[in-house]
Amino acid sequence: VSRLSLRAQQVEGSKTLELTMKAREMRKQGIDICIFGSGEPDFNTPQHICKSAYKAIEQGVTKYTPAGGISELRHAISDKLLEDNGLQYKPNQIIVSSGAKHSLSNIFFALINPGDEVIIPIPAWLSYWEQVKLAGGVPVFIKGKEDDDFKISPYELESAITAKTKFLLLNSPVNPTGSVYTREELEKLAEVCVNRDIMVVSDEIYEKLVYDGEEHVSIASLGQEIFDRTIVVNGFSKAYAMTGWRMGYAAAPLEIAKAMDDIQSQMTSNPTSFVQIASITALKGSQEPVREMREEYNRRRIRMVEMLQEIPRVVCSMPKGAFYVFPNIQGLLGKKAMGETISNDEVLSRMLLEHANILVVPGSSFKTENFIRLSYATDMETIEKGMTRFLDFVTNHV
Ligand code: PLP
Repeated sequence: VSRLSLRAQQVEGSKTLELTMKAREMRKQGIDICIFGSGEPDFNTPQHICKSAYKAIEQGVTKYTPAGGISELRHAISDKLLEDNGLQYKPNQIIVSSGAKHSLSNIFFALINPGDEVIIPIPAWLSYWEQVKLAGGVPVFIKGKEDDDFKISPYELESAITAKTKFLLLNSPVNPTGSVYTREELEKLAEVCVNRDIMVVSDEIYEKLVYDGEEHVSIASLGQEIFDRTIVVNGFSKAYAMTGWRMGYAAAPLEIAKAMDDIQSQMTSNPTSFVQIASITALKGSQEPVREMREEYNRRRIRMVEMLQEIPRVVCSMPKGAFYVFPNIQGLLGKKAMGETISNDEVLSRMLLEHANILVVPGSSFKTENFIRLSYATDMETIEKGMTRFLDFVTNHV
């Protein structure tokens, strides 16, 4: 008999992390690895944000704060949600947490009863279903069509809803595909959610990273009825290159915000005090660094896709958002390379690491086989070197 709780026995560690550890090990042995695994901006946090944190520490902002965040920050987030997303939330409807991941877990603990179903469109970020399970929920997966960039249709959503469905877990722009839901697509999904009276948890953490004139739309902005059913999640990690600072937030109907506040007050208390001050600076200060980073991601996105499209048997479309590409590698499966059959996306990812020295993440980590995910949150030189290695591997060894 295990000493571990059933909950702990169920939870799966991150496969992405496993590969990253292997890549780091290879690096230590002096092997030059091009890493495309990370979901983390390679940029430093903008200086004015860092300075604001130093100053706050000097001024003694190093004590407990209200669990859900200081009121100045909640006001700043309230202003942001109105200006950027057209959403009217009062500061007491906003709960600030130690990363969007933390916001999500608060939400799940606030909403999910044992056996409640949560609809998760796949491919999806791998923490969603693990967190839902930890909270006692049952993930129900739906897969959009590849031709629709894996975005789910209202019919697919409708047919996944049961009497036990609690909410739809929506993410746009999407990790790992880079897809962005359009206003019209969201309107149709919202209609289904309102008609069937299910809630939506909308993870908008990549909202600032959209390209080709695409617009990010928050599903919560599409009418009062869907607003009342939606919890918006966002954070500072991706837009402001602040992954290590751990800062995210959720905006919710008051009753849910209160429950999240209570949960957080018992589990972790406030997110780091001086990081809250720096986060106000991030929101209220110049947004120029955000635009500059997006421009650079955009250049990398185009270059990476261009180079992937040169690789035989790899099919890659141009994603509209986030900082990932998600090529179809089915054409390589069943082929032999270096005396081994490339039997699936995981084998391919391992072989690319071992024989081409590039780290990619298998699509099956996101519950979608026959694809791989590459992050372009890395410098252009690494992108060009890595894509050349990928091309060499396929042309010379497969
Ligand atoms: N949501 C998505 C879709 C993500 O990809 C990530 C990070 O990779 C997060 C949420 C969590 O971000 P953080 O906890 O750093 O705010």
